[in-house]
This record gives sequence, structure tokens and C-alpha cells, in this order.
Amino acid sequence: MWGIIATWRMAAEGVEKASEMLAKNGDAGDAIETAIRDVEDNPYYKSVGFGGLPNEEMEVELDAGYMDGNTFDVGAIAAIKDFANPISIARRLSKEKVNCVLVGEGAEKFAHKEGFERKNMLTDRARIHYKNRVKEVREQELKPYAGHDTVGMVCLDTTGKMVSATSTSGLFMKKQSRVGDSPIIGSGFYVDSKVGGASATGLGEDLMKGCISYEIVRLMKSGMHPQEACEKAVHDLDQELKERRGQAGDLSLIAMNNKGEWGVATNIDGFSFVVATEKEAPVVYLAKVVDGHTVHEPASQEWLDEYMRTRMAPVVEK
Ligand code: ASP
Repeated sequence: MWGIIATWRMAAEGVEKASEMLAKNGDAGDAIETAIRDVEDNPYYKSVGFGGLPNEEMEVELDAGYMDGNTFDVGAIAAIKDFANPISIARRLSKEKVNCVLVGEGAEKFAHKEGFERKNMLTDRARIHYKNRVKEVREQELKPYAGHDTVGMVCLDTTGKMVSATSTSGLFMKKQSRVGDSPIIGSGFYVDSKVGGASATGLGEDLMKGCISYEIVRLMKSGMHPQEACEKAVHDLDQELKERRGQAGDLSLIAMNNKGEWGVATNIDGFSFVVATEKEAPVVYLAKVVDGHTVHEPASQEWLDEYMRTRMAPVVEK
């Protein structure tokens, strides 16, 4: 059995590539890295890699994490600038015994020494979004911009190896050096090949409060199906946050177990995700909350067309 599940529609092309690799008995680490690089390289996805939206200082600072569920190797980078593929740097770091989580300048030095490709990640489109946003933002507090979104994935290969990984530009207009959940093990991602894995997207500051990816793996380990585990973890954290803090940020989670069964839960409407398994060709789903439960259905062709149209529409300075 093989399978891969990923957050957001933007992962679709990458998941397609990964599924071809997995179907030919490819390695889960190679497949997930290929899939995430595909998202990072796409200039139209404004929350990951090239074209990602910048921080307050108009700098694109990127976070990424990678975990191997066989060995528990973990690598992560945070607030790194000017490198094309954060996921590959995180994966490379996962091979280190110590110093496997690096931030900012130190992460850049490591990437430079290891020969990773440098790239100015700020596109003209992102610059225009920034300028427009500066005009609007003054009265708003930190919250995910309507185009935020981390690509997070869980992948199972035919040997039974599982990996989980993330890549993101984080929140638009974040403070310089702000780090979200995505490169934080247990929050943005977690995987154990003996059980399964999970990955998160949404408001990092809130996702971290529940160590939510780890929590889902823990629930799956106790015997829950990925769907049940995702729903319980998201529901519980959402409730706790509301009770203690009056509100909960966006929380959307995906998970897959080592049988290729998958689940998803969210507290927002319109969370899209992508799944491919040995039994199921890549499908983009849309999830929403109905009576406290997450329900999902394949996205319509109309929705898919509209998605690409809005992503690629010209951006104009206001
Ligand atoms: N979780 C990410 C962060 O807080 C953003 C997102 O997934 O939308 O950096």
C-alpha cells in the first residue's frame, strides 16, 4: 500500500508527481520532497516558497520541517531567506544528529555551505500584494491573511516507511523572525511509521497550543481511525481555545495511518486538501464543518477552474 495526503489545492500537481513515484515503489522521503518542491517553485502560490508573501519588512522568510517516521529523524529551518527550496534544506538537516533545527542566518549559512540554490523569493506579484496590504493593514491585528496556507503532507511508501513535511512563508505581514507551527515538530507535523502521521495548517500560534500533529498521532496509536483522531483533536483544541481565550484561530489537519487510511478535520469552511493512494487517483477535496463534524466531498470542476483563475489573475496596485 502507498498513499499521500496534503493540505490545500495547491498541492495537487505535486501530489500527482509523488503518486507516480510511490506507485513505482519510490521512497516516501523522495516523493514528499518532490511534491513540496513543486509547490515551492510555483510563483502563483502565495503562501509557500517562491512568490510567498513577505513579512512586515517586505522580506520573504520561510519555514519548513521534515520528519522520517522510521528513524524519527527530524530537520527544520525557520525564518530563512533567499533559498529556493526550504524543504530540501530541512530534509538535509534531518540527517544531522545535532544542530538539526536551524533558524535565520545560521540556517542560511548551512544552506550556502551545502550548496543549496539561492534565489530571491520575492516576486513582483508578492511585492504588489505587500504594498496593497500596507495600505489596509494598519487597523488590523495579526491574523492569517486570506491567502495564507502551509503545504503539509503525510506520505506512506510501499515499504511501509512514512514521512511528514511542511513548507510555508507563514503569515503574511508577520513580524520579522516570527516562527509559526510549521517547522515545529509535533505541532506542524509528526509521523511514526508504526502508526501514521499528521500535518497542520492554520493559525500557528493556536495550532502550537495543542501540539496538534503529535496529538493526532497519539490518538491513532490508541486505536482511532485517522478521521476520528483528526476530528477529536481539532474539536478539543477548538473548544479549549474558545473556553480559555474566547476565540480559536483557523485549525485544519490532515492525517494518514500506516494502512493508507486517511482523515481530515477543520474548524473553517472551504479547507481544500488532496489525496492519492494505491486505490484512489489524486483527488482534490473540499472540507467544511456540519453539526460539529468535518465533512468533505471532491471539489467540482467549476471550483477547480475558478481556483486557478483567481491564483493567476493579474494583481494591480491599489
Ligand atoms: N500555520 C502557518 C503559520 O502559522 C500558516 C498557515 O498554515 O496558514 O505559519
